[in-house]
Amino acid sequence: MTAALRDVRMIYGPETRQVLALDDVTVEFPPGTFTAVMGPSGSGKSTLLHCAAGLERPTAGSVTIAGTDLGGLTETALTHLRRERVGFVFQAFNLVSSLTAAQNVALPLRLAGRRPARQEISAALAAVGLADRARHRPSELSGGQQQRVAIARALITRPAVVFADEPTGALDNRSSKQVLDLLRALVDDHGQTVVMVTHDPVAAAFADRVLMLADGRLVDELEDADAASIA
Ligand code: ADP
Ligand code: ADP
Repeated sequence: MTAALRDVRMIYGPETRQVLALDDVTVEFPPGTFTAVMGPSGSGKSTLLHCAAGLERPTAGSVTIAGTDLGGLTETALTHLRRERVGFVFQAFNLVSSLTAAQNVALPLRLAGRRPARQEISAALAAVGLADRARHRPSELSGGQQQRVAIARALITRPAVVFADEPTGALDNRSSKQVLDLLRALVDDHGQTVVMVTHDPVAAAFADRVLMLADGRLVDELEDADAASIA
């Protein structure tokens, strides 16, 4: 299993006003699958993604990524695992504005103490259709292009799983489709595992299955055809 949550519970806040953000969630993300997570605002989608990605530690339950139980890791070991085994894509792209596209893509390798090869970076940019934008800074790229740079950056360490939090939330329809086609191709052509939070049924229809959250609980799971029909 690429990533899995078992009986995960997440409680935020001080004792007097606690919020149960995740209520005993058990879910697996098998290799080579594209999962969308949907649900109303406040239903726990981001919390689920953050716990699954090792960005936050749950109050109870276990999270595993590529066979490693995150609960047993020190903060340092968890940071290493995140850097090497997990890719992230955010709604706001989160590129470093002072760096070129190529430098942004190289960043995870530098953080891992590696000296990126030029060929490796250009291949990653080519894979997202931006071979000719290597020297551009984020401000010189469209939103859709910036998100594709962010995807190249998320993939450069060849992570076990890519987590995307509303990756099309800031994009127009055409750019959204490009980004979703790209995520789809990662799964179909490279056997990558992708987990995407979205509130857009059109985006969710690109996934193999759609998990529905409500009040911190997994209330439904739609596969393929059903998922397409909600769009
Ligand atoms: P969604 O992504 O579906 O909008 P979230 O996972 O962001 O939902 O939030 C789930 C619940 O947990 C909400 O009630 C939210 O207010 C609460 N919550 C999220 N993060 C925090 C936090 N850091 N501190 C306190 N409450 C939080
Ligand atoms: P190759 O796999 O032969 O190097 P590709 O065109 O398939 O060439 O990918 C080019 C680059 O894009 C890779 O070197 C890698 O950095 C990145 N890439 C594309 N898809 C993935 C993926 N699913 N997982 C990891 N990296 C990927």
